This record gives sequence, C-alpha cells and structure tokens, in this order.
Amino acid sequence: NRQVTLASRPVGAPVAANFKTVETPIPTPGEGQVLLRNIYLSLDPYMRGRMSDGPSYAAPVGIGEVMGAGTVARVQESNHPDYAAGDLVLAQGGWQEYALVDAKAVNRLDLDMQQPSLALGVLGMPGFTAYMGLLDIGQPKAGETVVVAAASGAVGSVVGQIAKLKGCRIVGIAGGPEKCRYVIEELGFDDCIDHRADDFPQLLKAACSDGIDVYYENVGGAVFDAVLPLLNAKARIPLCGLIAHYNDTELPPGPDRLGLLTRTLLSKRIRMQGFIIFDDYGDRYGEFLAEMGDWVRAGKIKFREDIVDGLENAPKAFIGMLEGDNFGKLVVRIAPD
Ligand code: NDP
Repeated sequence: NRQVTLASRPVGAPVAANFKTVETPIPTPGEGQVLLRNIYLSLDPYMRGRMSDGPSYAAPVGIGEVMGAGTVARVQESNHPDYAAGDLVLAQGGWQEYALVDAKAVNRLDLDMQQPSLALGVLGMPGFTAYMGLLDIGQPKAGETVVVAAASGAVGSVVGQIAKLKGCRIVGIAGGPEKCRYVIEELGFDDCIDHRADDFPQLLKAACSDGIDVYYENVGGAVFDAVLPLLNAKARIPLCGLIAHYNDTELPPGPDRLGLLTRTLLSKRIRMQGFIIFDDYGDRYGEFLAEMGDWVRAGKIKFREDIVDGLENAPKAFIGMLEGDNFGKLVVRIAPD
C-alpha cells in the first residue's frame, strides 16, 4: 500500500521534503470495517493547516502519519453487512492507495454517477461550502453586487454561479487572463479581475461601480485590502478562507490596518462571519445535494476539474495549488474508475 505521509512540518510554503512516500502491507478489515481502494483523492487548501501544529479548529496530522483527505473509492473487501466489494463510496481515505475505515464513516455513491470525482467538488465539500456560505451568511438579493476571489476554483466558481442564479451582478477575482476569461465566458460572471495586475485595486473599483454588497472571502491579503474600501453599508462577508495567509510565518508588514478594518465594519454596519462547513452546516448536506444535483444536471452550474494522475504527484500538485497552479477543482486520480 503506497502512502504519502507527513515527513516534517513546513516553515512557510510547503516543499517536497515535507512529504514522504512509504510502502506498507495492505491491511485486512476487522469487524465493522471496510477496505477501500482509493480512486480519486481530493486536494484542498485546508490541508495546509493540518500540516502545522498551531492552534486550529482541527487536530494536525502527526509526523509520519498519512495525510488525510476525502476520497472517492471502491470497496475492495467488506466486513460490514451494508457494503460489498465493488461499491462506490465517499470516505476519508487519505493520501494512499488503500484505506481501512469504519463502515459507519463511509457514504455510498450512486453507481451510475457519470463522474464520481464530482463528489469531491461541485457535488461535495467545496460545492457545499459555496452554497451555505453564500446563501446562509451572504444572503444575496437580486440586483446586489457579489464579489468572490479564487473565482475559477472549486468554491469560488460555484459561489458566483449561485449568486447569478439569484439575480446578482457577480464580479470574480482570479490569477491571470486565462482564468479570468474562463470565469466570464464559461461560468457567466459579469466581470473578472486579475489580482496580479499592477492596477488591480483600480480595476476592481471600476468593475464594482455600485460598490460591493456581498464579499465572499476566500483569500485575504492584498485582495481584501482592495475590497475593503468598496464595501457598501450593510454588506455581508462570509469568511470562508484566507489562502493568501496559509503560509505566513509572522504577521504581514505594516502599516497596521486593523483600525481601518474595524472602523469600516462599524461605520458601515458590516457583518463578517467565519464558518467551518461541516461543523456549522453538517445537518444541511442533504438539502444542498438535492438542489445542487438539480442545478448541475440542468447545466445551470458548470464546473471544471484539474485532474492530476498518480499518487506520487500529489505533493507537487498540492504545493502548486497554494500558488494558484490549479485551474478548477484539484483532484488526483490514483486508480482507474
Ligand atoms: P481553489 O480551487 O480555489 O484553489 C486555490 C486558489 O486560491 C488558487 O488556485 C489561487 O487561484 C488562489 N490563491 C492562492 N493564493 C492566492 C493569493 N495570495 N491571492 C489570491 N488568490 C490566491 O481552492 P478551493 O476552492 O478548494 O478553496 C477556496 C477557499 O475556500 C480556500 O481559502 C479554502 O481554505 C476555503 N475553504 C473553506 C472551507 C470552510 O469550511 N470554511 C471549506 C472549503 C474551502 P488564482 O490563481 O485565481 O489566484
């Protein structure tokens, strides 16, 4: 069983040496367990947090332990009456070829699902995150302006398309002209601004002539600096992610903008709320799946996957994602489906 383990904790951006590939015997399922053959492995930004042992909402991966991850897998061997060999499931299978898991922690997937990897993207955790954060915290209303960064990615692409379905004007922010073109032409956003452009703050301002009513925060950093002065009174900010800061080892250089932030929140009566998707909304997964399933089947929500072949390429792909190398939901194919 090939496994990718955490060899050391990164200082700043992760590097290849933080990971180690090891080979262990394929385990046998005990009572109530199933042995899974992982097919698709989801790579997500939150994994950067798990590599560090600082304070967090979740426990870190231990040194020498297999990196955790959601996977789409097939049951290889079952020791539980509800599952049989060949069943297609969604599980926390981790960065490895085979995973031994408790059958209770596994979710069955439709065998006739056209593209099982979607259970890790638009029809899975990232889609759910987009859906709940935007609708429950963002509360978008028709005619309002919604802004989202990492707009071509797994979460941002869905945020923008749902906001569009709700009648909003939607402005994306993405890295580079190719991603921006895709966001406008394929996903149907009204505009998309390249955060790497020298005059990014001016371009964003011009694209949001009526100000910003909902800013769905995926990024932080320089993107948030440009958004802050454009926020309207009573704006809502679902605080979903801060990927620009995940590799920070110290506070960013000044000037200190905390006073500016708090004054803006106060004077404009802005609501900013963080959330951790399954902790806060786990009981609403069914509701999401039903509505998103309809939207995807009807072609109302489009998606793009960035599929990398081979478990051995997972570390490189993960490191690249933190720099914006991925174009769409990043998934590693470890076995044929
Ligand atoms: P993406 O597929 O969007 O991939 C990450 C993208 O982030 C990159 O492609 C890059 O896009 C962008 N990015 C990276 N660094 C920067 C930077 N310094 N400035 C601007 N953009 C940057 O990832 P996901 O859709 O999976 O995740 C998006 C966000 O949602 C993350 O912050 C993640 O942590 C968060 N999240 C939070 C959850 C929760 O429960 N709160 C659950 C799931 C995700 P580009 O090239 O366009 O810059």
